[in-house]
Parts: sequence; structure tokens; C-alpha cells
Amino acid sequence: MNLVHLAQAKSPWVLHYDASSCNGCDIETVACLTPLYDIERFGAVPIGSPKHADMLLVTGNVNHKSKRVLRNIYDQMTEPKVVVAIGICATSSGVFHQSYNVLGGADQAVPVDVYISGCPPRPEAIIDAIIMGAEKLKKKWKEEEHPVKRSNQGSDTERSTADVG
Ligand code: SF4
Repeated sequence: MNLVHLAQAKSPWVLHYDASSCNGCDIETVACLTPLYDIERFGAVPIGSPKHADMLLVTGNVNHKSKRVLRNIYDQMTEPKVVVAIGICATSSGVFHQSYNVLGGADQAVPVDVYISGCPPRPEAIIDAIIMGAEKLKKKWKEEEHPVKRSNQGSDTERSTADVG
């Protein structure tokens, strides 16, 4: 694997977007950035611009307004990229399921690579999902370097099995 691509996969630049939520998941996600949980020790670097981000962390469910914004952010990210849906709202709309303005989870707007349940998930579980996302990113870089015809037509989506709280 190309050394530059390996470095990028080992140290993903991470962007967070709240599609609409109670902010419980956002608080846990932000906790991962603090010195207490410190996701930077795993190489992940929080970043503010989608144009520089490799990984998009989505919290909250998608509604009519946030769908367009989420898609816009996703489209600005360069390939390869991964999306991590954090919490049951971003996974399947959770307690807001079938609300008048809710469309569903993050996958209603963008392709999701890693789902993590919990309401909210613990920071340890979010870190686990970010590491899974980094592995997915490495796989995507490898595929870009050596494109092969896929024989497995099944889903390539990961689900975190961490204790989600
Ligand atoms: S999953 Fe729970 S904590 Fe997270 S945004 Fe939804 S309701 Fe809030």
C-alpha cells in the first residue's frame, strides 16, 4: 500500500455533523475529543472543513432540512471517505421514528459505512466505531490502488459490537 495512503488511513481527519438531535450524542462525541478520551491517540484529528475530512461522524436523525445539508457536506469530501452514524437516531431515527418531519437515519441522505447504536453511545463505543471507520478507509484506499471486480455482492457495512451503554 502506498505510504501516503497508509498514513492517511492511519490518521483520518474527522468532521462531525449533527443532523438534528437532542444533543446527547453530540456531547458524547465531543467528549471523545477531550483529553479524557482523546481520540487523537488513535490518530484521528478533528477538522472543520469537509474538503479536508476523510471521515464524517453523523449524529441525530435526518429531516427535510438536514438531508440537503448532510448531502452537501458529503459531496464536498474527497474520495475515499467513510461515514459513521453515531447513536440510534443516526442509525434508524430512534425515538423520533415516524415523526412528521423525520425521514430516518443518516443513510437517508448519504451512504453509511459504520453504524453504532446506543442512546447515546458511550465515548468508548464511539472511539471503537472511529477505529472501525479507519479500517474501512484503509480498505477503500487499497481498492483505489488495486481496483478489483467485487465477487461479494453483500453489504460491506460495519456494525460496532462495543458496549454502547
Ligand atoms: S440517539 Fe438518543 S442521545 Fe443520541 S441524539 Fe438520539 S435521542 Fe439523543
